[in-house]
Amino acid sequence: MTFLKSPSNIGCKFGILQFGFSSILSLGQLQNQATDGETKVSRTLTRDENFNFRAAYWADLHKLLYGALPVDIVLWGYFFLSFSMYDDKSKVKVEAKDLEMGVTVDIVADLLIAADGCLSSIRQSFCQLINEQMKSTRICRNNQNFYFNIEANKERMREEKYSDYCAWRGILDSSNKEHSEAIIILKKLYPDLGKCLYFDLSAATHCVFYELLNHRFNWIWYINQPEPNLKGNSVTMKVSENLVQSMHEEAEKTWVPEFVRVIKEIKKPFLNVIYDCDPLEQIFWDKEVLIGDAAHPTTPHGLRSTNMSILDADVLGKCLEKWEVENLNSALKNISPLGCQLLRSRFYILGD
Ligand SMILES: Cc1cc2nc3c(=O)[nH]c(=O)nc-3n(C[C@H](O)[C@H](O)[C@H](O)COP(=O)(O)OP(=O)(O)OC[C@H]3O[C@@H](n4cnc5c(N)ncnc54)[C@H](O)[C@@H]3O)c2cc1C
Repeated sequence: MTFLKSPSNIGCKFGILQFGFSSILSLGQLQNQATDGETKVSRTLTRDENFNFRAAYWADLHKLLYGALPVDIVLWGYFFLSFSMYDDKSKVKVEAKDLEMGVTVDIVADLLIAADGCLSSIRQSFCQLINEQMKSTRICRNNQNFYFNIEANKERMREEKYSDYCAWRGILDSSNKEHSEAIIILKKLYPDLGKCLYFDLSAATHCVFYELLNHRFNWIWYINQPEPNLKGNSVTMKVSENLVQSMHEEAEKTWVPEFVRVIKEIKKPFLNVIYDCDPLEQIFWDKEVLIGDAAHPTTPHGLRSTNMSILDADVLGKCLEKWEVENLNSALKNISPLGCQLLRSRFYILGD
């Protein structure tokens, strides 16, 4: 989460096309195949030779983005608790916990950018605020005055919904000799690893896997299950040894032995709980703006939500650069259509 404290901090210092291409791997092919859990026989369902997909390791992307920021812009180790607006709406005051000192501090800012992810607590406060204000406020949009019908838009304001599935995930570094044999054997079955993204379907489940740069094998296994009990607002769940053991047993029943070996060699697999949310009518209000998953949590099958987060930040930075801090409201009005546009294209991709 970033707090913009002074005009000199405003403006993204990166463009989407300037990302280090040396960290990005081009995957030209997509293969969908089905594996029979009983016989362990796989067959190809479809293949796309012009997939044109690019993949980057999350940590590499994070390093690039973080490296592009001014050194003092991120205050690490603060946990957002709440925010309030100055009466004249000139500033926003954020209450945050200094995790090292264990004390609560106030941070006054020109703008609060909520980039706190899918289960955003800022979005929850934001929706409450909108609900309260819209009951009594006249809203002006597209130069037309109208009253926002809170009842009609209740559905749009509701919180994220559990999508009825979770994902086991992990990375295997096969440049490490200990694991290279498992990947060499796997490549006999999946010879295009390194240039192909594989979807492997089995009864009521599927895996997605591909190789990233530097011999990192990226694995995601989607499973239908009741909503786990998450603590805090991270969608990544810590898993016990027992849960990992059960997952390995389930893998043995579902996937070919060569693939099971790779899954078992993945150290510290983790579980993501997946949520979705109906599009919000508005993603900015006075001096707060939502970006990324906080603005539009989506299920991961469009393979593009990080792109949307980065694009949001890029567009927000450009708008702020153009309009400057004195004209934040004009700047923020300009980001709204982008959010809508991205959400529409998201539905197109998922429905395609
Ligand atoms: C299984 C799975 C597969 C995916 N695959 C892809 C893919 O292939 N391609 C793709 O583009 N996207 C993919 N995604 C989506 C992608 O991970 C998210 O869209 C992306 O991480 C969203 O970025 P964000 O910065 O908006 O939020 P996040 O990455 O969730 O970051 C939010 C940050 O806010 C912090 N935070 C939360 N609350 C507070 C607080 N109160 N105070 C301070 N900090 C706080 C969190 O610690 C976190 O660091 C996938 C997601 C899942 C679950």
